[in-house]
Amino acid sequence: MTRTRVHGIIFGPQGCGKGTQGQLLSDRYDLPLLGSGDMFRAEIEAQTPLGKIAEEYVARGMLAPDEVVNAIIKKRLKEIATDRGFVLEGYPRNVEQAESLDRLVKINLAIHIKIRDEEAVRRLIGRRQCVHCRSVFHVEAAPSAMAGRCALCGHALIKRDDDQEAVIRQRLIAYHFMTEPMATYYRQRGVLLTVNGEQPIHFLFQELVKKMEKLGFAA
Ligand SMILES: [Zn+2]
Repeated sequence: MTRTRVHGIIFGPQGCGKGTQGQLLSDRYDLPLLGSGDMFRAEIEAQTPLGKIAEEYVARGMLAPDEVVNAIIKKRLKEIATDRGFVLEGYPRNVEQAESLDRLVKINLAIHIKIRDEEAVRRLIGRRQCVHCRSVFHVEAAPSAMAGRCALCGHALIKRDDDQEAVIRQRLIAYHFMTEPMATYYRQRGVLLTVNGEQPIHFLFQELVKKMEKLGFAA
């Protein structure tokens, strides 16, 4: 049996665990996990013409327009040997970006991790970050061994501005409006795989692997 190479993306609302699942997937299937954030940072650091444009948006706390984002991902994907397959995380974020990506390389697996808004809020609101080493804890799921302080370096833990409830809810609204329609887009192309994000990490991963095997992706 020939192995089908994964040309995958993983998406879901903030707090659904897509970064963790992407990493597990990358390890098990020996696939590079490509984070759009890392691609962006690399481009900015290299101070390429595209990187300089991207930097201006980042400095203003704005999302770069689709043309800029698409161009950066396109450039980076070409530089990486994609013949091994890959999993993209953090891109695409809307149907227009998904279409642009499909023109570049046909996506054959779109993993959609679903969680309810209330669960996303509950998870994100409990996050605490160390002011010094930036380690992230969670008041319920991963509490620090030192109450209110970082277990690694002893500095104070704070709630980031990003993790305030009003900000989280705004982002969820944007997610439903902009990103979630990608589920329909990929379903119509027969490559959508939906998993329930409201279960422990390893159960979720088992569900994911089982469904991938059914689709013909062997580890
Ligand atoms: Zn720390």
